[in-house]
Amino acid sequence: MEMWDVAVIGGGMSGWVAAAYAVKAGQRVMLTEKARMFGGRALTVHKNGVFLSLGAHAIYRDGECFHILNELGATPDGNVPAMAGHMLRERQLHDLPGSPISLMTSRLLSVRGKVELARILMSLKKLDKRNLPQGSLKDWAERSIREPEVRHMIYALCRTATFAHRPEIQSAGPALRQVNHVLNGGALYVNGGWSSIIERLRQTAMKAGVRAETGKAVVSITRQTSAQPNSVESFYEIRFADGEVRYANAVILAVPPTECYKIVSGSEKTALERWCRQARPVTTACLDLGMRRLPNPKVQFVMGLDSPFLFSNQSRAAKLSDNGGLAVHILKYHGSSQPDAEQDKADLERTMDILQPGWRKELQATQYLPHITVVHDYAHTERMEAPGPAVPELPNLYIAGDWAGHGELLVDAAAASAKRAVVELLNRSIPKQGEYHEYRRTI
Ligand SMILES: Cc1cc2nc3c(=O)[nH]c(=O)nc-3n(C[C@H](O)[C@H](O)[C@H](O)COP(=O)(O)OP(=O)(O)OC[C@H]3O[C@@H](n4cnc5c(N)ncnc54)[C@H](O)[C@@H]3O)c2cc1C
Repeated sequence: MEMWDVAVIGGGMSGWVAAAYAVKAGQRVMLTEKARMFGGRALTVHKNGVFLSLGAHAIYRDGECFHILNELGATPDGNVPAMAGHMLRERQLHDLPGSPISLMTSRLLSVRGKVELARILMSLKKLDKRNLPQGSLKDWAERSIREPEVRHMIYALCRTATFAHRPEIQSAGPALRQVNHVLNGGALYVNGGWSSIIERLRQTAMKAGVRAETGKAVVSITRQTSAQPNSVESFYEIRFADGEVRYANAVILAVPPTECYKIVSGSEKTALERWCRQARPVTTACLDLGMRRLPNPKVQFVMGLDSPFLFSNQSRAAKLSDNGGLAVHILKYHGSSQPDAEQDKADLERTMDILQPGWRKELQATQYLPHITVVHDYAHTERMEAPGPAVPELPNLYIAGDWAGHGELLVDAAAASAKRAVVELLNRSIPKQGEYHEYRRTI
């Protein structure tokens, strides 16, 4: 019976980060992905010469994921766009009041509002990350911001930085920390789309010895025990949809919480049940477009102020085409509203008519994702606890993913939780003489 040290289930960002760290620490690692391709939601589709990610994607240079990719030798290539753009209010475009000049001339704010926005942005830029505000974003905003117009602007900024559209339950601290990342390090648009990050990670991990397969869905994970003369040893039996069975001493589940719950035998008696129940997924409707050119080239990036939209021409900062086309994304944040595929598409198209009149004539490729999950959970006030890294009831079972953040959000939560899972796994496994400190140094 072949026994792996670590089995990583799921080949998205968190799975690959976990596999890369574990193999770097000397573990024998296998990774399995149920889809035909690695990447999960970091997938990029190459359509008619344009590289379209699944919705607009940017990586925060001050965030955990970027640092982790650096540490693993898989730093992404790309550029940070200038912090300029527009806001849409009552179907009218206004300059984003992000620079001193655009703030002074903005018709979105009263004089008092301008002074207050400048003060709030400065304080967010200098945010003390060791002393983040508690409670919901709404409570924080109502406590800290006098002018309602400024509050709405800060909500729009938080929504853009985190994709969450429920200030009444979103935890203020992590949201403001993410805004701080945007204001300082900026958001990197990645050349070739996010698949190129996965590809770098995959190459690094496989070169170091990870064995990885696609089209290999796990259907069950069951803890087995065997009695030894002085102890009880436990390991995991992993069953695949094709009937194959493999064994591993430790498992890292880098799949959504509902999937963890489904495939782990006896999960209803573990923390996985609680983590599933407390999860508040964030979803959007995305219209991803390959375009020959923008009919209105002055409009490159737009945040909705009184409507939950984001428009971005990602090609303004990253190489996302091999024929001169542009990768353009527009999305609608669902928040607590019920998704309606047809209505959402009509809303997105109507907004495109305002921002880029005549856009349909420039289309090269289209991809509509009516209800895609951006994150399976995030920091909100209805959470009972931050999930993971270990599943307490099942020794050597760990979780990773964007839903397992401990204050990090989005892909930063995915990467940071994967690293946490490996560190915890190495700390808990009984090291051979001298290896423990080696592991700690590597990680
Ligand atoms: C529209 C959109 C925009 C986004 N924009 C940003 C952004 O700008 N910045 C940012 O930081 N983040 C962004 N994100 C979030 C980011 O894409 C995700 O947080 C990240 O890719 C999640 O990685 P993951 O490994 O946690 O999950 P996933 O990528 O979902 O990976 C899980 C993998 O597990 C596999 N799997 C599931 N079940 C099984 C099984 N039984 N057996 C084997 N394999 C299985 C799945 O097929 C999948 O490949 C965005 C997401 C979306 C959808």
